[in-house]
Amino acid sequence: MTKPVLQHHYQDPRPYPKGVAYMDGQYIPMNEAKISVLDWGFLRSDATYDVVHAWEGAFFRLDKYVDRFLNSVEKLRMTLPVERTELEDILHNCVGLSGLQNAYVEMICTRGSSPTFSRDPRDADNRLICFAIPLGSIANEDQQKRGLHIAISDVVRIAPQSVDPTIKNYHWLDLIAGLFEAYDRGAENTLLVDLDGNITEGPGFNIFAVKDGVVYTPSSGVLEGITRQTVIDLCAELGIDCKIQSLPKENFLNADEVFLSSTAGGPQFVSKVDDTILQNSAAGPVFSKIKDLYWQKHNDANWITPINYDE
Ligand code: PLP
Repeated sequence: MTKPVLQHHYQDPRPYPKGVAYMDGQYIPMNEAKISVLDWGFLRSDATYDVVHAWEGAFFRLDKYVDRFLNSVEKLRMTLPVERTELEDILHNCVGLSGLQNAYVEMICTRGSSPTFSRDPRDADNRLICFAIPLGSIANEDQQKRGLHIAISDVVRIAPQSVDPTIKNYHWLDLIAGLFEAYDRGAENTLLVDLDGNITEGPGFNIFAVKDGVVYTPSSGVLEGITRQTVIDLCAELGIDCKIQSLPKENFLNADEVFLSSTAGGPQFVSKVDDTILQNSAAGPVFSKIKDLYWQKHNDANWITPINYDE
């Protein structure tokens, strides 16, 4: 056996996407952004985060994402090292320095770590990390054209009584188990149920069913997605009735249309739920109206915050 050598400068051999991160007051290339393995965010999933997107050089509904993030930080009894305006500056700078026009912009607060590895969360120094990378989407190009195929999983989403789903979090083992179950069943994505068998959400998205012109979305056990709220707002503007209530899986199997909402890609339609094919694998009329208005709002000064690339 060769004698092990203690390396003082770790080189990560993995490739990462182009982008810029902010950590501890410094802006660095994405592939250099690393946290200690002793950070509670990693060891305990003791972290909260948020993701806003930038589209054609402007943030979409930035205030709403920052509000949600600050609420999550407070509910977890963490303290950010910066005030709101500085946080917003950091998000602008990450995108500005990356040069990206369309970006996936994440802000994270982890519990951090303590020098003594104390087991008391109050002893840890909370850590803020932000980054901007190229914007991705829940559905790839092909799936966007012909709709996603989704399987309703038997996996139960972590109960809201255990982990408050309105705090955006990394407790994803249930969602990942659902994804593998979906792949095994020949589907591309998954929807999890709650303990009563009602539909909740999927990995990174909220879900909607349309029946007789009315739009429905689950009321509980879900992250209150900003895109979900945007769909609700757009329905009001379009004069479409939108109901927020408990929805058993039959509502999705018997729906006229099903679509999801996510910051990663906006509203995207689902053309197959389990074995049921919807709308002959084409985008439905209600979804199409909502999606068109969603993208129109990306040019509306009231909904966007342009990024300054020169600073
Ligand atoms: N539900 C979960 C579990 C999520 O992680 C996300 C986003 O990552 C969503 C829903 C959608 O929320 P938003 O529209 O704010 O992106």
